Amino acid sequence: MIDFNESQWWSYERFIEFQNIRLAEILDYAYNNIPAYKNKFDEAKLKPADIKNKDDLYKLPITTREEMQNNPDFVNAELIYDTLYTGGSTGSSLKYYDSEESRYIRAQAHARGWLWNGYTQGKRLAVVSSAQGTVGGPNTLNLVGDLSTGNLKEIVEKLIEFKPQHLRGYVSSLYILAKYCLDNSVTFAGIESIDPISENLYDYQREVMERGFGCRVFEEYCCNDGGACAWECEAHEGLHYFMERAIIEEIDGEMIVTDLWNKAMPFIRYRNGDAIVFLGKNCSCGRQLPLVQAKGRTNDIIIGKNGPISPSFLVHHGIGLVGPDRGESHFRSGMRTVQYIQKPGYILEVNIVKNDWCTDTEITEFRRDLNTIAPGMQINVNFLHDIPTTISGKRSFIINEDKELLKTWGL
Ligand SMILES: [Zn+2]
Repeated sequence: MIDFNESQWWSYERFIEFQNIRLAEILDYAYNNIPAYKNKFDEAKLKPADIKNKDDLYKLPITTREEMQNNPDFVNAELIYDTLYTGGSTGSSLKYYDSEESRYIRAQAHARGWLWNGYTQGKRLAVVSSAQGTVGGPNTLNLVGDLSTGNLKEIVEKLIEFKPQHLRGYVSSLYILAKYCLDNSVTFAGIESIDPISENLYDYQREVMERGFGCRVFEEYCCNDGGACAWECEAHEGLHYFMERAIIEEIDGEMIVTDLWNKAMPFIRYRNGDAIVFLGKNCSCGRQLPLVQAKGRTNDIIIGKNGPISPSFLVHHGIGLVGPDRGESHFRSGMRTVQYIQKPGYILEVNIVKNDWCTDTEITEFRRDLNTIAPGMQINVNFLHDIPTTISGKRSFIINEDKELLKTWGL
């Protein structure tokens, strides 16, 4: 089995060779074992051997998240090792599976990415996220919350007491926290790296975090459905795309990804909804893994009467992603998609696309929880057949139309 710490120093040619071998295996497997892909090959009048490398992949049709939702034709149930849910900026949920092998590769990719920013398990790690993003293990402090102004002081006090060596968390959460520290002259010593996750990172956020926490940001991009991931190394010249895990195609700026390992639920030419740019330059660290810029769909931020609400927190709430303590029975599968639109005057329009099996109880619980997350806002719930697309054909799941309020918060 591949060792990611060794392979990071391979030549570019060796990465390509490795990808082609894995690609042949995964395509052959999918054609012979996964009905949905057998159909795709047949419809395109192709056999696995017709696709030898990344340049041939265009012959196969693209696979969408919507196609894969609740579709057993994409799954080999015998190989399911781990069950996961998409979250972050996607706005709609996909329940998906890892095989034992792809679970192992996922862990290797993360371990290498974290090692680049100095983190190894056992070092003191503080995580700022929602219940879904909590991290287990020793020396870990999970700070779960929506970071409203009321509880910021308490969270910062906990952080000071914990003396973290590494910080990980949602971009907006870490940004809000760092801004608070700067505004209130709170200083930290001993933090070695900041690892912002799940949401797009903007330059102004990076700057505020680096000043607020007194150390460097190491950007991380990771989309486990499809296996696309990229991490910033110690040279800080872009993110290295992890070629050992997946093949990423860039088509008009969109990311199309083929997971090279997952046989429980293969992702072949999967449109994960994110954007990619290949930077076309070498990194001074010497690694040949290409430098990219990878971003999720642009997210606005909703601002409640107590301050900005983490987009990941809202999205996880909307599609019912819950912490490990609650179990799968609480997965809010009745709602396919939730869109949040803020109008001036603290009005929150919530557009819900329901699945057939959605119950009134689910909607009631959803509304009740939302009142806690967005206190003081007028919440209007609407039921739609689909979320309308913008002119460019994209869907935005969090939109803030109160531009004056955004300005007040410097966003
Ligand atoms: Zn590098």
